[in-house]
Amino acid sequence: MTAPRDPADILKAVFGHSEFRGQQEDVVRHVTAGGDAVVLFPTGAGKSICYQLPALARPGVAIVVSPLIALMRDQVEALKQAGVNAATLNSSVAPEEARWVYRELKAGRLDLLYVAPERLVTPGFKDMMQGVDIALFAIDEAHCVSQWGHDFRPEYRELASIRADYPGVPRIALTATADPTTQADIIERLGLETARVFTSSFDRPNIRYTIVERDNPRQQLKAFLARHKGNSGIVYCLSRNKVDETAQWLNKEGIRALPYHAGMSAADREANQDAFLREDSLCLVATVAFGMGIDKPDVRYVAHFDLPSSIEAYYQETGRAGRDGLFAEAWMCYGMSDVVQRRRMIDEGNAPEEIKRIERQKLNALLALCETPDCRRKTILKHFGEDHPGHCGECDSCLYPVDTWDGTDAAIKAMAAIYRTGQRFGALHVIDVLLGRDTEKVKDFSHDKQPVFGEGRDLDQKSWQSVLRQLTALGLVTVDHTYGALHLGAEARAVFKGERRIVFRRDRPRKAVETRRSLERLAGLPEAAQSLFDALRAERAKIARAQGVPPYVVCHDTTLRAMATDHPRTLAELGTIPGIGESKLKRYGAEFLAVLQRVDLAA
Ligand code: ZN
Repeated sequence: MTAPRDPADILKAVFGHSEFRGQQEDVVRHVTAGGDAVVLFPTGAGKSICYQLPALARPGVAIVVSPLIALMRDQVEALKQAGVNAATLNSSVAPEEARWVYRELKAGRLDLLYVAPERLVTPGFKDMMQGVDIALFAIDEAHCVSQWGHDFRPEYRELASIRADYPGVPRIALTATADPTTQADIIERLGLETARVFTSSFDRPNIRYTIVERDNPRQQLKAFLARHKGNSGIVYCLSRNKVDETAQWLNKEGIRALPYHAGMSAADREANQDAFLREDSLCLVATVAFGMGIDKPDVRYVAHFDLPSSIEAYYQETGRAGRDGLFAEAWMCYGMSDVVQRRRMIDEGNAPEEIKRIERQKLNALLALCETPDCRRKTILKHFGEDHPGHCGECDSCLYPVDTWDGTDAAIKAMAAIYRTGQRFGALHVIDVLLGRDTEKVKDFSHDKQPVFGEGRDLDQKSWQSVLRQLTALGLVTVDHTYGALHLGAEARAVFKGERRIVFRRDRPRKAVETRRSLERLAGLPEAAQSLFDALRAERAKIARAQGVPPYVVCHDTTLRAMATDHPRTLAELGTIPGIGESKLKRYGAEFLAVLQRVDLAA
């Protein structure tokens, strides 16, 4: 294509944006000028612009390495919509299409070529690139090169040869993974020691974090989903069974939901994933098998119906929400059974003891996040070595501050009850003893003769459950996997001896957390604009269906929202809407304008 050469002009003409976001412009200008770069931006920060723009500004074709076929397909489709000549070469490409790619490449007409890493390093690929002008190499999901990263792929190691094979061609490595060890590894493995490193905060300010104590989980989930009518989102469950049961139940409750887990056939999985990508309002209930390479920008919520494995996993999974920068929610429901289940998974796993120790530490860090009365965002970012002042205003702790209380006496009573009953009983019986209940079990074991019997009447059943859950999260109480019997942890002694004070968070009444304030914030549009937005969304769905592409490939929700609020009346005005570049204005301008006028007349 005959693109203007200044990056800012290309940004406007092709992508329809008049401004860069964050450090995008620095990266773009650096790479356009021929520099190497390492880009560490969180999901949703607009990483792809960082190589797509230099690809268009520089002569030649840009080679983009990506491990995920679905992601390549979407990106190429979105670029084509914007009038960019992009193509992909991977195992799913038919021979005739591959021949077309080859011809376009040789004719110098291709702007971007997406390839799988294993293909890039083959002799055949090098032959093909003989005499072809290369604008740059972009290595996406660069953490795959590192064994420390969460998704190591050995074929990424081979990419180190790019530097020697194509000297002088700029390289840009991109990832959303924070860990400093992984970062150093990427630089070393890919030979990017002299590259400029661009980092930005890993905060996702448009995501609201909420973690609730499990009480009546299905009702809690239902109440949460009620404020996401018309939205798409993901509900994560730990087991395949729970995925299937939850999806069935949601459908009965009138919420369209589809399951996704590794136990399903590949065809069923793909069909459900496609439906999720293509529909505007669908709840995908999934195990963590789902999510890698899902680039759907308008996922409005991610709900964890079970505890994830670590803060890293939680951050990554919740990070799939709100990639378009609009408000999104991360919601988790958590209880004592999760702790037992997760600990069991670690203990009974086949990993060496060394790895198990790390997994236990990671789980403990996550439990501390669940139980903290402090700002959730601050706690998450601190885990990644980033300082945040807290009081973010967009997490449950900030929105509905929790009380804390000195629970040292309660902790001692609860632990004494566990100890005095022989560390052989589960939470229910321990609470019965604390509350002085004359149950059969109490009589059978003469636990009413124990000095702690009835000593806990100052608190109610729920409070004792909360105490035992928090003691378990703190590691002061451990739970026997087989029978659920409670034991004292090694550190319990310090509490008995008065050397350690215990502060608990006070569980909130559920209703206060679930409802207030969220709805208007979620809608975010004045009533008049909302109906316009819905009409535009319907038009977009029609366009997308006709072409067999996901709606967000046609344009993002952010673009439709801007149309609904700014209400352009001419093509020229429509062209000023962010996300409407020259190609999209030509292709869809008339259709969207017709909707805007129709709603005008109706009003
Ligand atoms: Zn906060």
